[in-house]
Amino acid sequence: SNIIAIVGRPNVGKSTLFNRMTESRKAIVDESAGVTRDRQYGKGVWNGIEFSIIDTGGYAVNSEDIFEGEIRKQVMLAIEEADAILFVVDVENGVTDMDEEVAAVLRRSKKNVFIAVNKVDNNARIIDSHEFYSLGLGELYCISSMTGSGTGELLDAIVDTFPKDEPEEIEENVPRFAIIGRPNVGKSSFINALIGVDRNMVTDIAGTTRDAIHTRYNQFGHDFYLIDTAGLRKRTKVKEDVEFYSTMRSIRAIEDSDVCILIIDATRGMEAQDVSIFHLIDRNKKGLVILVNKWDLIEKDNASTNKFTKQIKERIAPFVDVPIMFISALTKQRILKALETAVEVFENRSKKIKTSELNEVMLKAIEDYPPPSIKGKFVKIKYVTQLPSQTPSFAFFANLPQYVKEAYRRYLENKIRENFNFSGVPIQIYIRKK
Ligand code: GDP
Repeated sequence: SNIIAIVGRPNVGKSTLFNRMTESRKAIVDESAGVTRDRQYGKGVWNGIEFSIIDTGGYAVNSEDIFEGEIRKQVMLAIEEADAILFVVDVENGVTDMDEEVAAVLRRSKKNVFIAVNKVDNNARIIDSHEFYSLGLGELYCISSMTGSGTGELLDAIVDTFPKDEPEEIEENVPRFAIIGRPNVGKSSFINALIGVDRNMVTDIAGTTRDAIHTRYNQFGHDFYLIDTAGLRKRTKVKEDVEFYSTMRSIRAIEDSDVCILIIDATRGMEAQDVSIFHLIDRNKKGLVILVNKWDLIEKDNASTNKFTKQIKERIAPFVDVPIMFISALTKQRILKALETAVEVFENRSKKIKTSELNEVMLKAIEDYPPPSIKGKFVKIKYVTQLPSQTPSFAFFANLPQYVKEAYRRYLENKIRENFNFSGVPIQIYIRKK
């Protein structure tokens, strides 16, 4: 989907605007370069067009100098990665030096830039807002992120610049695999091992990040698209901030995929950054295979895989029904198996269980262990069906749906997983009124 990046000085109202524009969100914690910041990532829909928003956000930096450097970096990243940039300024402060600096950088970019003059809550302030024309970024959008006034017009203008059709035709029944992971875990090496060419050569030819992203392959008898987040990173002019840069790219790749192949580095184990990528995948309800790469570097005994598996599952709980494999991109150990597993996860994600079969198994499971009664009321689940949705979702029909609590949903989910193979696939459980 399209990415909107919000940039601007602190306290101009970026996060309020972000919250207004998103329906769901997730904080990305980024601790690279000794700077802690909360970057918010959220999704929204306007006029039926979906988009992602990144609030490049709040900084905890002491010195003014570093601070300015950070803002500059944030703007550069936004220019490189986003489809539209939303530059927020504050009518109460008027045009500041930093606004001018940011504007200068934005003017040189070829991106669509929208300038939102925030805190315009009354007519006098509309007049005050005119001074922002001096930033040379064209039309001004006067908004109040607090009340929401003007944000509709702003969103109309932004989504209007998004491409109406996907640039390439993606065949629906061919799996799209995204290769995801932090820098240096071995994504490029894995892809090279899998498709047998040095694709860093390919990335030089590629024009934009957008065009290069899907490539179709037929390897070992499997037909699939690879969504590659690895090679292109090396083109960036922004040397710092690699982690976040790759996070933005990961978000886009995750959204475009059916199954994510999450690579982690065996010599480092599952770290906080890996876990936050995992959450992005889970949240987007994509299929998942975890590959522990560089397995050749580990001194192993017969407990090693179990130990690793246990450590990873502790970090990704409660969604632990995920294939975890130990590979080496270097020696090509289990590369083919990894591909086959990803294909299997794709199939699991697309499968539909027959209603009769589902009821037979699940009504028995419910009878064996019924939902606990609450305040003397008995909860009865009569019927279950798989919904015709993109990712596996199941509706259970009950007399008192509000009494079916999280622990019991978990039981239902586990029973589905035990009886029907949904390995690597997030599933959703809905309890509906019968
Ligand atoms: P990317 O940033 O995730 O694409 O990572 P690269 O594929 O560029 O790999 C980073 C480094 O790890 C390179 O020096 C690779 O040679 C090395 N590497 C990748 N996979 C393996 C592996 O399975 N075993 C070993 N020993 N080294 C690896």
